[in-house]
Amino acid sequence: MKCTVITNVVIFTVDRTDTLIRKGTVIVRDGLIAAVGKKEDISIPIDADEIIDGRGQMALLPGLIDSHNHSSLMRGVAEGLRLVDWLPVYDLEHRACTEEDAYHAARLSYLECLKNGTTTIMDMYRFMHRSAEAAGELGIRLHLAPYAADVQPYDFFETAKANEKLIKTHHMSQNGKIRVWMGLENLFYCSEDMYKGAIRAQQEYGVGIHTHGCEQEEEEQNIIRTFGKSSIDMLEQRGILGEKTLLAHCVWVNDDDIKKMAATGTNLAHCAISAAKLGCGVARIPLMLKEGVNVSIGSDGVIDNNSMDLFQEMKFASLIQKATNYDASVMSAKEMLRMATINGAKSLNMENEIGSIEVGKSADMILVDFFRPNLQPVFWNEEETNLLWNLVFSAKGENVDTVMVQGEILVRQGKSTKVSETEVMIMAQTQGEDWMRRREYHKKLTGLG
Ligand SMILES: [Zn+2]
Repeated sequence: MKCTVITNVVIFTVDRTDTLIRKGTVIVRDGLIAAVGKKEDISIPIDADEIIDGRGQMALLPGLIDSHNHSSLMRGVAEGLRLVDWLPVYDLEHRACTEEDAYHAARLSYLECLKNGTTTIMDMYRFMHRSAEAAGELGIRLHLAPYAADVQPYDFFETAKANEKLIKTHHMSQNGKIRVWMGLENLFYCSEDMYKGAIRAQQEYGVGIHTHGCEQEEEEQNIIRTFGKSSIDMLEQRGILGEKTLLAHCVWVNDDDIKKMAATGTNLAHCAISAAKLGCGVARIPLMLKEGVNVSIGSDGVIDNNSMDLFQEMKFASLIQKATNYDASVMSAKEMLRMATINGAKSLNMENEIGSIEVGKSADMILVDFFRPNLQPVFWNEEETNLLWNLVFSAKGENVDTVMVQGEILVRQGKSTKVSETEVMIMAQTQGEDWMRRREYHKKLTGLG
């Protein structure tokens, strides 16, 4: 049984009462958190295989959870476009996408996420058996929700059948780090039958459902014109609202929609930077939180964002609410950290396994080095500190020193312990150039973009 000890660290447990331990120790045994507490209360086991000493200069946080992502190599290639104009351009990426593209996209994307302190990703992409392969190489925890659609002309996406096959072959693989959900693109791309099939699979395999909705005003108005009701009402009619469903975006929702999401326990993946970039607007998060919606945080991937750093995401998601609500008190550092950790775990129906530093949970944790110019000075007044504000509003992914998933160290001193980062980048460059060439061909063929 492997035993790792992390000591002399400031622990932000993100447990029910947000317990903060100024000088703490965590013992990890066999991938699980075996003890958490003050340094003086926990003795270091004599059989410890490794002792990591934070020297009072590291903060230990639960691993961050990116609850909506699309791995891709298309960074910086669809700029200055509102969502409605951006979507046809995005489709080009998918018309050209091959299995090899998906694999190299996943490797580069997951490497970026991992180095920035993300230990779990919900990825909606294509050829996802290859995404699972990439995750296996890096060691990251991954939820797969294939981009599935069946309405023409969007049927170049994945099929429901392939999604179900993926559940059979990959769900709970890699020691439970890989989970497969049913993915549904959106109401215009998926037929009623696909929703029925997703619910059947959800019941048969006990998996969740992940889909998009209510992202831009025109899109929502179009839904209302086409179906005679709001997206949330349509998703309710399709039967998918509930605790095992995760909706991305929900910028354009009305008060009744929000109440419905809260009442059904439907989870939200809030993608603040993506919504800003694509000119979608600002989701009404303070109201959603007040109504009791579980709000987690998604980056939405590189083509939408253009980076995948949940530290940036926490800061931006908070600031945009302060600015647009003319209220500096909303979305505190504590709330933002909960959104990026335990709320994310709940979104993925994993709140009993990950999302906080508590005994019995999987050791998915990160160490942030705060002896850095951008995170100093640190003040303490009894057990009160400015450190959490520094971590949420001043830290960057590059301040992450160590990343652990299931007790295994995947990033040490900011570098992957599992892959050659140079090799991942060189391969991504070659594959990306080839993908861009094929994308250009589809551009000419379709006249899109
Ligand atoms: Zn998305």
